[in-house]
Amino acid sequence: MASFNDFANLCLALSQTQSRLQIAALAAEFLNRIGRAEAPAAARFMVGRALPQGAEKPLNVSGRAIWKIAAEIAGAEDQGEEIFAAATDFGEAIEMALKRRADTPEPTLTIAEVESEFAAIASIEGRNSRRLKLDALRGLLRRATPLEAKFLAKILIGEMRHGMSEGLMLEALAAMAARPIAEVRRINMVEGDVGRTLLRLTATGGASSIAASTAEINEAGGDKAATPANASGDHALPTDAAPRPLKPMLAQPAANVADAFRILGGPFALEHKLDGARVQIHSGPFGVRIWSRRLNEITRSLPEVIETIGRLAGRRAIFDGEVIAIDPGGRPLAFQDVMRRFGRVREVERMRAERPVRLFVFDLIGLDGNLLIDEPYERRYAALAGLAESAGLERAGRIIPDSIADGTQFFARAIADGYEGVMAKALASPYTPGARGRGWLKIKQARTLDLTIVAAEWGYGRRHGWLSNYHLAARDPNRGGFVEVGKTFKGLTDEDFREMTDRLLALKIEERRGVVVVRPEIVVEVAYSDIQRSPQYDGGMALRFARIVGVRSDKSTDEADTIDAVAAAFDRQALKPLGAP
Ligand code: AMP
Repeated sequence: MASFNDFANLCLALSQTQSRLQIAALAAEFLNRIGRAEAPAAARFMVGRALPQGAEKPLNVSGRAIWKIAAEIAGAEDQGEEIFAAATDFGEAIEMALKRRADTPEPTLTIAEVESEFAAIASIEGRNSRRLKLDALRGLLRRATPLEAKFLAKILIGEMRHGMSEGLMLEALAAMAARPIAEVRRINMVEGDVGRTLLRLTATGGASSIAASTAEINEAGGDKAATPANASGDHALPTDAAPRPLKPMLAQPAANVADAFRILGGPFALEHKLDGARVQIHSGPFGVRIWSRRLNEITRSLPEVIETIGRLAGRRAIFDGEVIAIDPGGRPLAFQDVMRRFGRVREVERMRAERPVRLFVFDLIGLDGNLLIDEPYERRYAALAGLAESAGLERAGRIIPDSIADGTQFFARAIADGYEGVMAKALASPYTPGARGRGWLKIKQARTLDLTIVAAEWGYGRRHGWLSNYHLAARDPNRGGFVEVGKTFKGLTDEDFREMTDRLLALKIEERRGVVVVRPEIVVEVAYSDIQRSPQYDGGMALRFARIVGVRSDKSTDEADTIDAVAAAFDRQALKPLGAP
């Protein structure tokens, strides 16, 4: 069994290494050394994932809880401020606290034990689950050395800060398995998890491509129906009983329909963009299972969707779609209302009665045991239409525009009908899981950006006692980190403020003169009137009349808008002729 202390020391070494190549080499060397049983978990931990992607139950352990337990073990409850002021990050704060412990344990934890402890914490459910989860976490931290605790904490909050991203991990795996990086990326697209990708790459016999390795699995599973549909690149899905979600395909923003014609350069469809929440639904002999955009399993929360897709009577298929919540009058409700249904396991039926959801499917990613990701959208859509017709599934409204005028009219009507905008999809485009491919464009009417909250200010007057003025930032993909582009306290209800204050305090890094700096984790959709040049902000731009229109709990900060998107929105408004809407 591999020692978790060795893993912690590796992470320490990674954080002291500048060169990407060397980081990848160190990681590959470590994974090679520890063997196949523990390497998948180690690969996941290295990229800041405690559980395999798509795990059914989340950990639900906050940074605040980890700190409380560590402080309690070390008897450092009243030293938090001092420790956080001196520590460079959260993990270091935990390490510093545990160094003050009188009885530091010897390193005995193994990677396998940490993996099974994390799984055990995630599996705790029911009445006393919060307390039981914290008890289990306490047991783990008690056994950890300060250095081990530092990295346990970092994995749990998903912030390693040692330069090992998922992309770099794939490079390490490619080096380790002596396979081309493109192939490894592709396997990871299908597997959606670096640990499973590693397993697939190191499968005994060394399969030379995904097609071959899936075929192996099929043989092992004895399911002859699931052979590839053609030899040119269709992939058979593993036929084991547990279906696994793929990362959803993402879209790039486009300004308008004319832009879509220019960017896509070939025939495309326009579909209504529904303002709901993304779902991926798998149907098969195992029944129906549903995942959210962030690949959390939400099967038990959406019985309506299970009933709808249940009409396929166990036929194997993977759908991509959107669910919207509707009020008793049949009108669509706000995005927040759909999200309240996601992940709910108690009182599901009562919530269903209050806020039923409706499913709209827009893509078919798998059928009868074959992955369709390499098929052009046109063919996937034709198959989707056939299935939808036979099973009575609703689809998003759609046209194939033959001119800019035609498409612009469809867009204008979509906005008038209350849709968020339209999606433009190239007919020839493959389905690129997890990637913002060039095949899909989103065209929205409203001026909104998805920004990350990086700090908040204590409110006064009516908002006294709440964190209320939020510092909004855009991701900087080139230099890393976030760039502030505005502040707002508008758009939230009192209940939202209360909830947000709790969430932000759990993410607090430090407090300076009434400004609470938080770990960048919460993404909000922000409407604004325009973007101004502003020397006060590092990025040189500031949003005017910013207002929060929703909390995007379905998006991670990686998916939030970048500073380049803010700059592009700024350029677009600058280019607009005077008097244009
Ligand atoms: P955004 O959330 O602004 O990045 O826009 C992309 C999201 O729009 C997707 O993740 C889906 O949840 C949603 N969406 C709504 N309607 C469609 C559609 N017809 N096709 C694809 N995505 C859609």
